[in-house]
Amino acid sequence: MVVFTDLDGTLLNSRTYRFDEAREALDALQARGIPTVLVSSKTRAEMEPIRSQLRNGHPFIVENGGAVFIPAEYFLFPLPGTRASGPYRIVEFGTPYSLLRQALKEIERDIGLSLTGYGDLSADDVALRTGLSSEEAALAKQREYDEPFFIEGTHRVPPELAAAIRSRGLNWTTGDRCHHLMGPQDKGRAVRRLIQYYRQAARDHHHRLTTVAVGNSLNDLPMLAAVDRPILLQQADGVYAAGIDLPGLIRAPAPGPTGWNQAILSLLQ
Ligand SMILES: [Mg+2]
Repeated sequence: MVVFTDLDGTLLNSRTYRFDEAREALDALQARGIPTVLVSSKTRAEMEPIRSQLRNGHPFIVENGGAVFIPAEYFLFPLPGTRASGPYRIVEFGTPYSLLRQALKEIERDIGLSLTGYGDLSADDVALRTGLSSEEAALAKQREYDEPFFIEGTHRVPPELAAAIRSRGLNWTTGDRCHHLMGPQDKGRAVRRLIQYYRQAARDHHHRLTTVAVGNSLNDLPMLAAVDRPILLQQADGVYAAGIDLPGLIRAPAPGPTGWNQAILSLLQ
């Protein structure tokens, strides 16, 4: 088995960004040697300290599927199409951040909506809007493949904005706190690549692989659609995100790490 999990509002509490309530299930996975793969809209700079806190040495997926980071020597076979980067092999799916920034500002000018990206904000302003500390917000601003943005005055993406994004060959999705402008990546594409590697590893040991994913927002839908056992958690207000339905979808009856703990423990039983 391998478990892919979103962070904000899923493994991490949406307000405190802590994972204490999921401890029991995390330990149970570790005791069984089941990898937990973190899949987030967060940057590599934000995810590395969280991996350390979790004592997690598995691959991870950054910026809504913008890139997959695989510890070197993690898989014992060659990984064509990856390149070495520090202690990792990486697979890149995303569009360079500078192009996304330029597109966001052009779209803002063209359609006359006020769009505020992380690149327009200081770390302190990102902290104010997200509840991250200023230090964490500075890490959140170190973006490579995805620009989080707010639409001033509304939370819904109006059709003219969606059309302007698509006309530039770009994409958008919605996470827990804001929208994201990005290239051709999504969490599903990155997860499918890793599943391919985990399947090969399982085959080499004559095992069968079961894939699990846990998420809570629209940006998790492609990841949930890529696995055998998709699990949807409630959002912080106790309601499930709209527009997420899949065959076999398991709806956990709680939000955040509490729901995560219950869902994983009942899956392991
Ligand atoms: Mg989330």
